Amino acid sequence: MAKQRVFSGIRPTGRIHIGNFLGAVQNYVKLQDEYESVYCIVDVHALTTLEDTSNLQQNIMEMALDMLAAGIDPKKSILFVQSHVPEVMELFTLLGMVTPLSWLMRVPTFKEKARQQPENVNYGLVGYPVLMTADIILYKAEVVPVGEDQLPHLELAREIVRRFNDKFGPTFPEPEARLTQFPTIIGLDGKEKMSKSLGNFLEVSATPEETRKKIGAAVTDVTRIRRTDFGHPQMCNVYSLRKYFTQDVLDDLTVACTTAKIGCVECKKQLAEGINRALGPVRERRAEIAKDPAYIRDVLADGAKRAQALARPTLEEVKKKMGLE
Ligand code: ATP
Ligand code: MG
Repeated sequence: MAKQRVFSGIRPTGRIHIGNFLGAVQNYVKLQDEYESVYCIVDVHALTTLEDTSNLQQNIMEMALDMLAAGIDPKKSILFVQSHVPEVMELFTLLGMVTPLSWLMRVPTFKEKARQQPENVNYGLVGYPVLMTADIILYKAEVVPVGEDQLPHLELAREIVRRFNDKFGPTFPEPEARLTQFPTIIGLDGKEKMSKSLGNFLEVSATPEETRKKIGAAVTDVTRIRRTDFGHPQMCNVYSLRKYFTQDVLDDLTVACTTAKIGCVECKKQLAEGINRALGPVRERRAEIAKDPAYIRDVLADGAKRAQALARPTLEEVKKKMGLE
């Protein structure tokens, strides 16, 4: 039986952080054997929130580097840059004709971004889920590994697909989300989702020293003011992060924190060491691959060629069905 296809996109808005790693990229790596995998660095999506695009090319290279270092294998997966397969823009425009504006206006991430950048609520921002739908269905992907934060977008993608199939006949599979076991990772501010564009992140590629510094400054249980105060693990984002990086000592930590045997400073030191241990191999691979930018460019060029070969027949089919040919 032919393998099912997965598609997922990641915005080149900075280096990947531990939220992206736990919530998405680790999952991409696992799925490579089970599925035919298509992974995309979505540069056009990045334009919906970037004011300054002077770093975009560099960010694309960094993102490719992050993905390869995390274990994306270009022999198993197609890794490419969204704008290198321009067919997606055409499909985006066409899908825009079957997507009610009211569906887009109610998307939580749209409302959130509009709040974060009130001076730049552009047309692309509201159309984001339509472009994301085009990304997925251009390759007729059945499965989409994403973090929880992307679920509303995926639900909308399914609705757009249903509407298209209803109007023009069965064309696309309804894409299904494939979540990791990790919930949305909260940023080091202890408040908002960890996000490349909010600055509340720890990059996977941070050095051990940078990791200690950033984790050392992370917000813990805000009700714990004095060293002798008892801690509340369920209200502490550092504790949540320790679930992923220092799981082996979690029971002891819970007792030590709730009885004030351990303070937040020491707890964060242990977290930083746990992260450094867990990410060590990825960081080493990253340094190795970074020595050869030509290799990264070759991977992306080959990925775009393979992606385009899948995209062209889909677009032809859509144009015929919509009466354009
Ligand atoms: P930006 O702020 O530019 O939107 P981002 O950090 O949200 O950046 P994306 O490129 O939008 O990253 O998302 C890449 C993938 O990482 C998506 O599958 C998304 O679901 C996942 N992801 C993003 N942030 C988190 C998080 N805090 N926890 C878990 N998964 C996340
Ligand atoms: Mg995002």
